[in-house]
Amino acid sequence: MLDHFYKLAKRVVSKGGTVSFEWPRYCAGWDLPVLQQLILEFKLIQADIDGCSVGLKSAVTQNPMRKPWIFYCSQENLAKLFSARRCTGDHIHTTCQGKDTYLSGFYPEELAKLMIKGIVEQPHFHACVFNPVFEFTGVVDLDNAMQKMW
Ligand SMILES: [Zn+2]
Repeated sequence: MLDHFYKLAKRVVSKGGTVSFEWPRYCAGWDLPVLQQLILEFKLIQADIDGCSVGLKSAVTQNPMRKPWIFYCSQENLAKLFSARRCTGDHIHTTCQGKDTYLSGFYPEELAKLMIKGIVEQPHFHACVFNPVFEFTGVVDLDNAMQKMW
């Protein structure tokens, strides 16, 4: 899984693009030497973010779910946008379990918009996004995508 990301990230970065990586904050995988090497090699910046700060809610109770993530981003701007989104502590969280476990694997719309904002505000729009929950790895050529949109 990380080998895939590494190969793709190397290609994207060689073309002047950017990369980001996300896992749950409390995940033993962060200690993997290969991941630490990857973070150093691509000079990724850590950004802690809480799901409740980007609209993540339980499908069962409709209450916010904290679901803390860590993103590592090669874009300082994106890392800053993410890091500004932390739990305000003024609400009750629903524990992520059962049906919510699966559904919380999808990013909330507010988080997706934040990602796009952080990526698009950079001079190069080529980006590599990796979500290990679905083992999805893809290169998004945002230059072409944006041209098609306009
Ligand atoms: Zn919260």
